[in-house]
Amino acid sequence: MRALHAALCLLVLVGAGCGTPGSGHDTLYQVSTLDALVAGQYDGVVTAGELLDHGDFGLGTFHGLDGEMVVLDAEAYQVRMDGHAMATSARVKAPFAAVTWFEPDITRQVEGPATLEDLHAQLDSMLPSRDGVYAVRIQGEFDVVKARSVPEQKKPYPPLKEVLEHQAVFNFRHKRGTLVGFYCPESLRGVNAAGYHLHFLDELCVRGGHVLDCRMQRGTISLDTTGEVHLVLER
Ligand SMILES: [Zn+2]
Repeated sequence: MRALHAALCLLVLVGAGCGTPGSGHDTLYQVSTLDALVAGQYDGVVTAGELLDHGDFGLGTFHGLDGEMVVLDAEAYQVRMDGHAMATSARVKAPFAAVTWFEPDITRQVEGPATLEDLHAQLDSMLPSRDGVYAVRIQGEFDVVKARSVPEQKKPYPPLKEVLEHQAVFNFRHKRGTLVGFYCPESLRGVNAAGYHLHFLDELCVRGGHVLDCRMQRGTISLDTTGEVHLVLER
């Protein structure tokens, strides 16, 4: 009898991890691919509870594209269309998400003001290699964070490009908080977002979203080398 919950998992080595091979702590645990999400695959695959079994830090979205996901300090948050963040139930499923255990390998203090482009340049100068996957955590004081969330979708799901025409954009001012995300290499384009992909959560964990731009006064950038990718395509 065929297993009802067949899991197709791929393990991809993308660089030299710093931890013990197979320990899982330097592994990006990813649900589905960005290309599948862009095409309109918004059915949840893995629960938030399962994600938190594989990492305490990351980002993603929710079943039906119901908002932006931020995973920070072992808690998963959902940011809906009004920009409010709230802790999610462990049972809510994600059609696309990526998490890891965040253990900083490289840290740098930044004096601003720094736009998102400035932060990308700082990060570029910190990356040990352009070929690896790195978890990126930027904790700081922000004059402004421009972020977005997306409206929940019903079937038949439209492609992501159409949904983004109806995105909600927020300008959060004078917030302390954290940018949470990843750098992925060109070789993973389509599997994930090539380059930087960051979500925001304020320090009270009540506001957030997918980051479009920002101006940070000061803060701390931390990078965690993530040498392996564990890709879950279906359950
Ligand atoms: Zn995003």
